[in-house]
Formats: sequence, structure tokens, C-alpha cells
Amino acid sequence: MKFPTKLIHHPGAECEHTGAVSTPIYQVSTFRQRGTGASSHYDYSRTDNPTRGALEQFINELEGGAGAAAFGSGMAAISACLTLLDAGDQVVATEGLYGGTYRVLRDYFSALGITSTFVDTTNPEAVEEAIRPETRAVFVETPSNPLMKITDIERLAALAHAGEALLMVDNTFMSPYLQRPLERGADLVIHSATKFLGGHSDVINGLVVASNGGLAKDIRAIQNAMGAIPSPMDCWIVMRGMKTLQVRMDRAQNTAGTIARWLVERAEVKEVLYPGLGTLKGDGVHHDQADGPGAVLSFRLRDELIPSPLMENASVWTPAVSLGGVESIITRPSRMTHLPYSQDERQRLGITDDLIRLSAGLEAPEDLIEELECGLELCHEGAR
Ligand SMILES: *Cc1c(COP(=O)(O)O)cnc(C)c1O
Repeated sequence: MKFPTKLIHHPGAECEHTGAVSTPIYQVSTFRQRGTGASSHYDYSRTDNPTRGALEQFINELEGGAGAAAFGSGMAAISACLTLLDAGDQVVATEGLYGGTYRVLRDYFSALGITSTFVDTTNPEAVEEAIRPETRAVFVETPSNPLMKITDIERLAALAHAGEALLMVDNTFMSPYLQRPLERGADLVIHSATKFLGGHSDVINGLVVASNGGLAKDIRAIQNAMGAIPSPMDCWIVMRGMKTLQVRMDRAQNTAGTIARWLVERAEVKEVLYPGLGTLKGDGVHHDQADGPGAVLSFRLRDELIPSPLMENASVWTPAVSLGGVESIITRPSRMTHLPYSQDERQRLGITDDLIRLSAGLEAPEDLIEELECGLELCHEGAR
């Protein structure tokens, strides 16, 4: 089956008892047990729930995995993966990755004796250097948020597996439509389904897909033991969003490309970070491992310009954190999403006040560009 067909006719898409063409929402905690030890597969919804199971099989099929688990948020999914590690283990992670991932590693997993080393994963030599005998995980975001740095998934899988480490890839920015890390040797793929998969800014959800049955079993054991599960209703909302993933992504990606090319021509703009332009260091790698540039881009204003008017005068654009929704979102990462990093860290990484991140939604590109144009002109006036 081709990708768009899989989105519509996914496992569990129909009710096998009634023929209903939408997955039933099993809003239930417990299941009747007929005689001791003779329960149906289901006994308690923390352990397994039919609606959640449908979502898990759905994402598993799209990513080509051996099993999946759904969580109450992307951070719960990430934390479940990191829970595979033990005290004394080390994680090598992409520097500048999502602020929440950085925070949970730095503030919580470190307290459990799991250390993290943040490196420029675009450079395989730097990763190789950082991997030590106690490294058990390499955690990668590609493209990274918000600097759109590209990491070679296949190279890093080889490096991780040369040691005893798992390669974990946060695939939130691409979605399985554009990038399937398991095909390139990753062991675990993680999604904040809050973003492109859900796609409508109306649900928080996280997903993990494992490359082999053993890992899938381990993640599901953590899901059951720690209990950070999503509700059946939320799972249904995510599945409802996923049906239109391809049409939304195609459209949003087109708009992102149009905006990126328009920004490149603007005198106010110093730099546009987007894999579709052929100007990023990792463009070739991205082109190789992904089927498109995606719908998120960042740009930097020329030094003397202050981007506040772009945020303050946004109306078609929504000034907000998050991304991947039907509405276009404009974010200032240094003030909004990357606050867990210290000012010095942000400066070093280049997540500075002049950086703006855009997530293209489904509005008319002309309206989005018109508003950016007004905003950029106001940035001029502000600087004068
Ligand atoms: C939003 C996001 C997360 C966290 O997901 P939540 O659903 O907000 O918990 C993790 N990684 C990336 C790349 C994200 O954009």
C-alpha cells in the first residue's frame, strides 16, 4: 500500500463489530474477566486499551517498526525511552535540541546518574569522540529545532552500534511521511504527535516506535509501569489528524518553500535556515535521507534589526510556541521555546534574539507573506 492509502486504511480504522468507519473510543478503565485467568487480551487500560492500540499500530505501520507505544505527551515518550538507561550510562545528544529534552536530561536524568554530553551531531567525528564505553544512547533531532541542523542518521546509527548504544531519533519535524529513521538504522523513533501528526493544535500526545520486538516490549513495559499514557479520546483525535497528514504536509511544505525563497530576497534578512534552499551545510544529507524539506524554517534578521514587530503585529500568523498545526505559527525561540538553556548557552549555540522560527500552516501563502512584509518594514522603523 502507498503512503496516503495507509493513512486512511490503517489498522483499527474501522470497527470490526459494527463496520463503523471511525475507530471506536473505548472510554473505559477495566475489562470484565470471564473466570480467573481467562480474561480477554484486555484487562486494564493503563496496560492496553483498544483505541490506544489502534494509534500504536497506525504509527508503527507508517514508521515501519516492530511495535509502538503511545504516551500522554512527546516529553513522556522521550522520558520513557531514556528510562531504558541505568545509572552510570551516558547519552550523547544533539546540541541545541528541543528545550524540554535538554531540561529533562540535565535536571532529572542526571539526578538518576545518567549523564548527557551535547555535541554537534552534524559532525560524525564529534559524535565518535563523545562516545565512551558507558554510552548507551545517541539522541538526535534532524532537522534540529530551531537551527535546522542536519544529522546523518545512517552514519550515527553505525557509530552508536559500534559501541553499545541505541540510536534514538526525534522525528517530530519530518513525520513518517517525509523521513523514516528506522529504515536508516535507528533503534527508536519518537514523535511529539502534538505537532504534525495531530496537526490541529488541539491535543498533546507522544509516540515511540521500536525497530525490534525486544525494544518494543521494553518500551511497553515502561509505559505500563510508569503510566504516562494518553486518554482514548486523545488517541482518537491524533488518529483523526493523521488521516490528512500527507495533504496537510504537502500544502504546508509548499508554503514554507515559497516563504523561504521570499525571505532570502529580503534585505532585512541575514540568513534563512531551511533544507529546501541548498544553502544549509547538511542539505545533501537531508536530501538523501528525507523526502522533503518540511514545513518549518528559521531566519535571522540583519544585526541592527529587532524582530519584536513581527511578533507584536502578527494576526494571520499566530505568535505561539508549538508547530505543525493548520495555523501558521511564528516563534522567537530565544524567548519562548529555548528558555531552559542559559543565556550563555543560547548565545554559544546561535539561538539568539534575532532568530525567528516559522511553522507554515494552511492559510493562503499570499496572506502570510503580506503580513511578514508589513512586519519586516516595521522592524526597520523600530531600528531607526
Ligand atoms: C514539541 C516537541 C517535543 C515535546 O513534545 P510535547 O508533546 O510538547 O511534550 C519534543 N521534541 C520536539 C522536536 C518538539 O517539537
